[in-house]
Order: sequence, then structure tokens, then C-alpha cells
Amino acid sequence: MHIETDPKLDFKDVLIRPKRSTLSSRADVDVTRSFRFVHTGREWTGFPLIASNMDTVGTFSVARAFAPFGAMVALHKHYPAERLIEFLRSEIAENVFYSIGTTTEDLDKLALVRAQVPVGKICIDVANGYSEQFLQVVQRVRAENPDSVIMAGAIVTGEMAEALILAGADIVKVGIGSGSVCTTRDLTGVGYPQLSAVIECADAAHGLRGHVCSDGGCTVPGDVAKAFGGGADFVMLGGMLAGHDECEGRVRYEIRNGESVPVGLEFYGMSSDTAMNKYHGGVADYRAAEGKTVEVPYRGPVKATLQHIMGGLRSSMTYIGATRLKEVPKRTTFVLVGAQRNTVFD
Ligand code: 5GP
Repeated sequence: MHIETDPKLDFKDVLIRPKRSTLSSRADVDVTRSFRFVHTGREWTGFPLIASNMDTVGTFSVARAFAPFGAMVALHKHYPAERLIEFLRSEIAENVFYSIGTTTEDLDKLALVRAQVPVGKICIDVANGYSEQFLQVVQRVRAENPDSVIMAGAIVTGEMAEALILAGADIVKVGIGSGSVCTTRDLTGVGYPQLSAVIECADAAHGLRGHVCSDGGCTVPGDVAKAFGGGADFVMLGGMLAGHDECEGRVRYEIRNGESVPVGLEFYGMSSDTAMNKYHGGVADYRAAEGKTVEVPYRGPVKATLQHIMGGLRSSMTYIGATRLKEVPKRTTFVLVGAQRNTVFD
């Protein structure tokens, strides 16, 4: 039995050390970034934050709300083809990923959509990115879509990041078991601390001129800053974007002062009982749900939350003296901590 003993870190295990700089105001920092993708040579400029391809937050409405800020959405895969075609004809198509799994149905639907409208960015998403079959699907999607930016995952280790990039992915999606409504670690005992996964995968991917998206595990804007600091080029969020007007899912209302007001929204993992009942008529006999269902407080428009995250990141960049997002990993020194903050009023 071999046990890896070097420490593996989560966002909660570190803080970012402040650094001296000549930056005077957070208005001087730029959170947008330009990318050139390894396989397509395509370029994209924007704020590299991506709403997760969950059917609650990966919505057309979130994409419309994010577009003015240059942020992105991985659209969930349960929209009918006609609605996806219509949306991809809009001018914000550059800021969305078209999501697929590895089923024939998903690949056929993509072919159908592509026949009507260009699909600039594709997210190939499976819970376990370690199977040979997944690599083959990435190769096939790359061959069939030579001009599309491809993001693929989920994985958590450097050798798999390299394999996916060599198979045709431009961006690897990093994170297994770190999600807010994910129960993979409880059920299977499998996972990897998110910050270390990002650091190790970024090291491997960047060596091949690929990019990395940190997916899952962010609970506060500071975690987004830590993910970028660890080398993530993109950060994907689910739970932090749940509960907003632009989200889909059941809303609970209460009568307050004679008026019906929204108080809570249902949010669930894409492998939860809730999602499987909705899309697959129940949980198949041979598997167990790997996600849970929660109710999150209603939080109003998503724009305010996005601005809060951007504000946090700008401030973080000011503390470390990074003018541009690209400089963040170079200016980041993590310190191991025993506690994140003062909890006296918790
Ligand atoms: P969050 O930002 O909420 O911490 O994490 C979001 C990520 O959790 C998603 O992008 C996806 O990778 C992952 N996720 C979503 N639903 C499920 C699920 O049902 N099971 C598991 N294992 N992961 C999920």
C-alpha cells in the first residue's frame, strides 16, 4: 500500500499573503483576460467565470445577465435543440459553452445543432473523466469540431490533464467531489482537495499550452481568487450562483404583509434523485444518486452577486499587486492556516 503523504490543500486550508505594490486603487485592476486556445487558435476575451452546466444555473437567463460583464455560462444540456439553435444565433453565443455528456443522444443532438448554427465552445462533461471511453469521445468531438473550443472533465490529476489536452481538449475541467450539492465523496470515498487539484492540473496543462477550469468548491469570492491564484484560467460556479431570479427550479413563496414573495429556490446536483427523476424517470437500479437537493435562500438578481464576486477579486488583486488577472498566479503566495477568520459572531 502506497500512501501519498505530501499535503493536499483545499481553499479553506490557505490564505493569500499580501504583497507590496504601487497599485493604489482597485479600479486600476483588470479582471478580464484574453486567451488563445491551443487546438483551435481561437481567441476569447472576457471575465473567465463560468456558470455551471447545471439545469438550475446554466440557463439562458443567466447568460443574458452575465453578457454585459463578459462572464460565461455553460448551458445545461436539457434544453431542446430548437431553443439552443435559436440562442446560439444571438450575439452572446461567444460567451456560452454547449454542454454534452458522452451518450449517443447527446452527440446526435450536437450534430443536429451544428448543422444549423456554429457551436463555438463545447463542454464535454462526465462525473468521472478517467475512463478510456471518455478520452475516445473527446478525440471524436475534436475531430468532428475542429473549430470549436473544447472543455473536458472532470479530472483532478496532472497526467489526466495531459491526456485530455493531447486528445483534443483546449481546457480541462478540474474537480471531483468538491461541489456544494455533490455527495461523491460520502458515497465513494473518492476525491481530491480542490486547490491542489487545480495547482497540479494547471502545471500539467500549461506545459502543453492548454488551460484549466476549476469546477466546484468555491463558497465565497475569496475562494474564486484562490482558484485563480492556484493557476486556474477559468472558474466554474454552481452553488454561489443559485437562488437568483435568472435561475430555474422550483420557487417557494411565503405570504408577507399580504403579498406573496419568493423566499427559497430548489437547487440540486445533476446526479441527484431530483435530476434523475426529472430527466431519466428515476435512479437506475445499478447506481446511487451522487448529488443532493437543497433549498437556497432567494437572492434577487444574479448581477449583484456577480458584481460582488468581481469586487472581491479586484480587491484581492490590489492586495497582491496584480494589475491584470493573468499576473495573479505569479503574485500569489499561499500561506497554510488553521483558521480562515474570526468566528465570534457566527
Ligand atoms: P459548486 O460551485 O456548487 O461547489 O460546484 C458545482 C459543480 O458541482 C458542478 O459544476 C459540477 O461539476 C458538480 N456537480 C453538480 N451536480 C453534481 C452531482 O449531482 N454530483 C456530483 N458529484 N457533482 C455535481
